[in-house]
Amino acid sequence: MFPALEDQISCCTDKWAARHCLVHEETGVVVPMLCGKYKCKYCGPRRVEMWRSLIEVAEPERFITLTGAGKTLAEVGRVATTIVQRLRRQGYKFEYCMTFERHKNGRFHIHMLQKGDYIPQKFLSECLRSATHGSAYVVDIRRCVPGTAGYVTKYCTKVLAASEVGSRADGTRARVNRVRYSKCLFPSATKVLKAELRAAAAEKQRAQGDEVESLEGTWKLLEVAPLPRDKQGHIDEEAMREQYRRLVAKRVQEASTEPMKLSKGGKQVLAFMVLQSLRLGELDKTFEQVISCQDFAQNDQDVTFWCEEGLVKGNLARQTERRKPLF
Ligand SMILES: [Zn+2]
Repeated sequence: MFPALEDQISCCTDKWAARHCLVHEETGVVVPMLCGKYKCKYCGPRRVEMWRSLIEVAEPERFITLTGAGKTLAEVGRVATTIVQRLRRQGYKFEYCMTFERHKNGRFHIHMLQKGDYIPQKFLSECLRSATHGSAYVVDIRRCVPGTAGYVTKYCTKVLAASEVGSRADGTRARVNRVRYSKCLFPSATKVLKAELRAAAAEKQRAQGDEVESLEGTWKLLEVAPLPRDKQGHIDEEAMREQYRRLVAKRVQEASTEPMKLSKGGKQVLAFMVLQSLRLGELDKTFEQVISCQDFAQNDQDVTFWCEEGLVKGNLARQTERRKPLF
């Protein structure tokens, strides 16, 4: 079985992040900057995992699905706000964390993890019907079980087109958080909880004998490679692409030579694919193929991917077996 998607990606390759790093003020330790975007194949799964852990700390009681609540993220966000306001006005104690899943039919489902008063299904259905002007009413309420948090957070990394995000009243593109939550859901501020979770994860790694950088203290953002500009101050597009390729190749190589990460299989194959694609000027293709690899793992299908010979259609697991160590 091919490793899970998040294990295959060896570093963040965001254009802006590639040109930056973080420097620890006290020790001078330098770490690569991460973009932290949901759509990033490296940062996205990590961000989702953080949310999953945070939600588990919050111990939600119910898992509520509001079906087909809107056509865009902006619209469905407004519907959610309307419903929560109505519940609060009715005097219900309602703390929540919600995510939005785009269904095949183009409409979004709202997934809520809720804590507080039980809301009768009939009333929630009526709230949804009125908030969507009659177009949706199907509501499902279940008890939370271990793993429910993972079920609702997994939709966050799905990349959405501008038409699916929707726009504000003034026509500009809306910005809607992929995870929304009410203030009192968590026992303390999410910033504090995140720091605690990171510390616990580092402690666990140390107990296993791994060396872990301490994240405490102040980190300063540093631009390692300024955007190349011509004499008039315009960005030199060609030089910028060249710079990006160089920076990503360096990152991939650094991530792959760390002793802990120098494994056979997934990471090396990906590092190899990225390097090959960089050489061939096909970086975006690689990332499409990484997604294909995951499909392959699930459906046991052959995939197309780059290798020494060029674009190859084949079975990635077999390719992995016969590939020599790369670095
Ligand atoms: Zn990233």
